[in-house]
Amino acid sequence: MTSAILCAAGRGTRAGFSENKVLRELGGLPVLSWSLSAFSAAGVDEIIVACREEDEARIQALLAPYPAARAMRGGKTRGESVFAALKAAKGEIVLVHDAARPFLSQKLICDCIASVKAFGSGVCALPASDTVVLAAEGNVISVPARETAFLVQTPQGFYKDKLLVAYEKAREEGLSFTDESGVYAHYIAPPRLFAGERGNRKLTYAEDFLPAERVGFGADTHAFGEGDRIVLAGVSIPHTHGLIAHSDGDVLCHALMDALLSAAGLSDIGHHFPDTDERFRGADSMELLRKVVVMLARAGYAAKNASVSVLAEKPRLAPHIAKMKENLAGALGIGQDAVGIAAGTNERLGYVGEGKGITVYATVLLMPVRPAQ
Ligand code: MG
Repeated sequence: MTSAILCAAGRGTRAGFSENKVLRELGGLPVLSWSLSAFSAAGVDEIIVACREEDEARIQALLAPYPAARAMRGGKTRGESVFAALKAAKGEIVLVHDAARPFLSQKLICDCIASVKAFGSGVCALPASDTVVLAAEGNVISVPARETAFLVQTPQGFYKDKLLVAYEKAREEGLSFTDESGVYAHYIAPPRLFAGERGNRKLTYAEDFLPAERVGFGADTHAFGEGDRIVLAGVSIPHTHGLIAHSDGDVLCHALMDALLSAAGLSDIGHHFPDTDERFRGADSMELLRKVVVMLARAGYAAKNASVSVLAEKPRLAPHIAKMKENLAGALGIGQDAVGIAAGTNERLGYVGEGKGITVYATVLLMPVRPAQ
């Protein structure tokens, strides 16, 4: 029989949240639920969640879909919580895991159990990709050879009886350790390492909780009418016709604004800048684009890149692309290398091919600029 102990009694002070970070939502589920489902899917017989008294009711509610899981009040330190859970655990093998590592795979859990069966213990670790040094008072005192340096993750698995002995001795001597690998190494034997996963990150700081990037798509068409110039991305281009519009008819800006707004889940430009509103008659669309960028920032996003495709039989746009890119990059606050503008004809097909109008498609990627509220 195998038991898992999930450490969820931390305060998460480094993240600066008012609630326990394992209760925060990430990817549509509370952080704790991801570990619960991984251990549950791996077929672990018992899951003990060590939690703080003030979180107990919320954690109990999250355990409902997992019949093998139960909550238990933790102690003042991680070590006290694990010690208490160990005494209550029924399994011969025990895996201890930080609930703030929600991305562990089922394979990692199976590898951990296999390591315990083969070697008596299994500590998940990654080889250090940076040089690790030991320091005191701001000075490096020792530089271990990089191939001997590892970054330790969880889960960490042991035979329960041996880990209990180690914790009992640590308690008698009043020593504390950051995790099970330390206490086991000190009192029992050097624990066996097995390969961790880069994705098995620990959520520590507020920025670790950033929501995912968002993609957006927008399209717009304007018909040619009277006039002697068109405006695209704020560049005025002489032509035999203008574009019919309530605003300046900057069809490229309009497609781009809709891509940005829809990526952030906001209403489209027709909602924000209605063409029935006199304030927007002849409006400078680049000015509107800058307003959209502010709306995005309020929603917690900024553009990462933009990719635009302009379909027009005429006029020729190639001489103006560089200035158009410069204008868009400036308004979006990104580098010009993050703005792509392709200009093509429609091979004389359809309304574009007949020279009746211009259509623009735009895609954007938004990146989160602050943690989800
Ligand atoms: Mg338009």
